Amino acid sequence: MTKKTVGYVHLEWECPACGTRNKGIDKICRNCGAPQPADVQFEQVAQEQLIQDEQVIAQAQAGPDVHCPFCGTRNPATADQCSQCLADLTEAKAREAGQVVGAHQDKAVPDVACSFCGTMNSGTALHCVHCGAALPKVERPETESAKPQVRRSTGMSKTTRYVLFGILGLVAIACIAIIILSSRTTEIVGEVQGVSWEYSVAIEALTPVEDEEWRDRVPDDAEILSCRKEVRRTQPNPAPGATEVCGTPYTVDTGTGVGEVVQDCEYQVYDDYCTFTELQWRDFDLVSLTGDDFSPQWPNPSLAQDQRLGEETETYEVYFNADGSNYTYRPDSLSEFTQFEEGSRWILEVNTFNNVRSVTPDR
Ligand SMILES: [Zn+2]
Ligand SMILES: [Zn+2]
Ligand SMILES: [Zn+2]
Repeated sequence: MTKKTVGYVHLEWECPACGTRNKGIDKICRNCGAPQPADVQFEQVAQEQLIQDEQVIAQAQAGPDVHCPFCGTRNPATADQCSQCLADLTEAKAREAGQVVGAHQDKAVPDVACSFCGTMNSGTALHCVHCGAALPKVERPETESAKPQVRRSTGMSKTTRYVLFGILGLVAIACIAIIILSSRTTEIVGEVQGVSWEYSVAIEALTPVEDEEWRDRVPDDAEILSCRKEVRRTQPNPAPGATEVCGTPYTVDTGTGVGEVVQDCEYQVYDDYCTFTELQWRDFDLVSLTGDDFSPQWPNPSLAQDQRLGEETETYEVYFNADGSNYTYRPDSLSEFTQFEEGSRWILEVNTFNNVRSVTPDR
């Protein structure tokens, strides 16, 4: 995050002795002459305007004011001697600085009536132009009157919730039942009636595939179709060509009676995001051979120049008859498959859904 200075604005302080509001740069109450105590904080004025006076700005940049250790009077950071009692200021304590006093207020404020003579005064005035009486601080108009309404979610009705719980319960019961039933098996003796196999081979072809990536990550052999500028990252420091994104300006107490209006900014760095095509091996076709004997064969398709063989799959099935019912068993490998001679007898472990879980020779 980069802190950017928008400008400087006057602050004010309220005299604890007489209640008069004073300009931030005034170190002594204009009404009663009391010095501003160290523990009286600066506050924002109702309407902040950027200071044009270079001298005031230079003073604000010089560092927080200090309070005389003997009489308490506020003196500039650069002073060696107290302006009131001429005491040495080397041991003087600097005012607290850096606190945020509020969001920058540059909106106009309404005029205010003097409570003594009724004269209308500018909302930014401290004293009545007619009688000189101290003016009350203007209430700032609410700038965020249209605050977004947070709509409270109505939530699910009770009935919907009960129905949902009911459905979930039934699904859970069904799952448990299926697990129990499929694990419960019985043993029967079956005779091999026949077999079948299927050998498949995928044919892959080099196919142009469209994809998107940052320009420096596009593969070398890809063909770039088009690129557009997109935000690649956000960084705290400025960079050439980056877009500056700044937050709401706010005012910070500099400890001098002047506030620094600052903005926290980030920088969006753009880069080329490109659409490209790249040749990739993709499934193009599937060639299969099937048979009902014990000598399976792999298909041997002829390949074009930009084609190659892909994934191979082998499936075997053995058909049993047991007490007039038919069962199918699927061996995992060719060596297992070739054990099942036609007419041989096997003990089948069959579950509730008539699936053969395992087979063992019936000796
Ligand atoms: Zn006073
Ligand atoms: Zn002093
Ligand atoms: Zn007045």
